[in-house]
Amino acid sequence: MSNKTNITKHVANLVAYAKEKLGLNYYDAVYAHNRLLAELKLTEPTTPDETLPDFQTEIIDKIVDYAVEQGLADPKAKLLYETKIIGLVMPSPSVVMSNFDSLVRNNGIEAATNYLNELSVNSNYIRMPDIKKNIKWTAECPNGNLTITINLSKPEKSNEQVALERSMPQTKYPKCMLCLENLGFEGSYRHPARETIRIIPMFLNDEPWFMQYSPYVYFDNHCIAVSENHQPMSITPKTFTRLLDFVELFPHYFMGSNADLPIVGGSILAHEHYQGGKKVLPMFTRPVRKAFATNEYPSVNIGILDWYNSVIKLSGTNRKDIEAVAQKILASWRNYTDENVGVIAHTDAPHNTITPIATIENGDYCLYLILRNNRTDEAHPYGIYHPTEDMHNIKKEGIGLIEAMGTFILPGRLASEITQIVDIMTGKTPLNFVELSDEKHPLSKHLGMIIQLANDCGTTLSNDDAEKAVVNYVNNTCVKILECTAVFKNTEVGQQAFEKFLNSLEINA
Ligand SMILES: [Zn+2]
Repeated sequence: MSNKTNITKHVANLVAYAKEKLGLNYYDAVYAHNRLLAELKLTEPTTPDETLPDFQTEIIDKIVDYAVEQGLADPKAKLLYETKIIGLVMPSPSVVMSNFDSLVRNNGIEAATNYLNELSVNSNYIRMPDIKKNIKWTAECPNGNLTITINLSKPEKSNEQVALERSMPQTKYPKCMLCLENLGFEGSYRHPARETIRIIPMFLNDEPWFMQYSPYVYFDNHCIAVSENHQPMSITPKTFTRLLDFVELFPHYFMGSNADLPIVGGSILAHEHYQGGKKVLPMFTRPVRKAFATNEYPSVNIGILDWYNSVIKLSGTNRKDIEAVAQKILASWRNYTDENVGVIAHTDAPHNTITPIATIENGDYCLYLILRNNRTDEAHPYGIYHPTEDMHNIKKEGIGLIEAMGTFILPGRLASEITQIVDIMTGKTPLNFVELSDEKHPLSKHLGMIIQLANDCGTTLSNDDAEKAVVNYVNNTCVKILECTAVFKNTEVGQQAFEKFLNSLEINA
């Protein structure tokens, strides 16, 4: 067969795939077929194979390679072109919205979210084969297990990069990765293609928002609620209302907001958005450590959560009262200083904020309020409630809401570095402190970790034992990182200070 015959077959297979897996309508399929032919400068269609071949390797990769050969696609941007051609066979955004709505009406919200999630995977918007490359394990810890993922599917961002992005003038189109205008955007070297993203509009606090899945899937059904307005992250009483509005619409999901200050916030502070998904994050399994109540709102259960950092859990059936208590805590925390434990609300800038998360649990509305502070000082230039420098070999970036809840996303570089450290622990690679002390050595940032491991375990371990020792070190470091983020430490003094803060609000044990 000539190349041309092959390509028309691949195109026919793509259209057949779209009808079967993306729900492309019979008439829209004819239309999409013609648009694909035009895009690839072909004159006539053919019929698809009786049994569809592998989507990625035998359909998509073949079409992209053909387009590159013909000079129709940029060889340095194959992913952009792939997204473009899949975008041509996707049901339109409004069709996906109306499919979603009719599933909600007829089969319930879970059926509707399953539909959108499956569509996101089948369209390669979520690249499942890449996500599956991530290395994931559970760290069993006496005070609460953690989930740890080494992220091999997305490059990491440093705080400096985040700060740089924040300071850049907002003149580009779309203004950021979250703006509504990403819908159908063709992308560039610096901005991912978004022809295949599909969103579900909704009102939160009577304002226009929309929901989309995260292409990076840090946990099951990882989704994002995004404001239609490009406005900066801010934690206000409206945040609690929007989060609870969301979980009323999606009671099988949680929804949480990153804090609105650098260091303790997420990577995108310029556009208001929240993150949610299935309630699989470790913090949700933890009980209340100590219960409190307030006479003003007796229906609200208030508790300090038994967790590494400082979390107040509010729950009950009276939503308005829960919001009222949350507002009171937020307003007071913004200005709360307790110098005895180092909590200072203002210096040259405000430092106190909250990472709030909403759920519905057994019919109760719940708000988890993680108290945060982003102050720095000479001894802690990266943040007083931030991992100290001896942990930066594992994690240096801000601890956002997903990690604050015990789901760690560690940089991809760690995968090969761990293997190299295991080789030192087994004696396969000789331990050479002089070489390791050289800044150019790929393991130099792990020097402290290697010294400690070698001291504790020696360098003649079996491969299994060496792996266990290194993973154990990483697990313990993640626990310490979470403890760093606690504004009230889990010590007698720290917990007394935590209670003093609650008592100042007439919330008593
Ligand atoms: Zn934006």
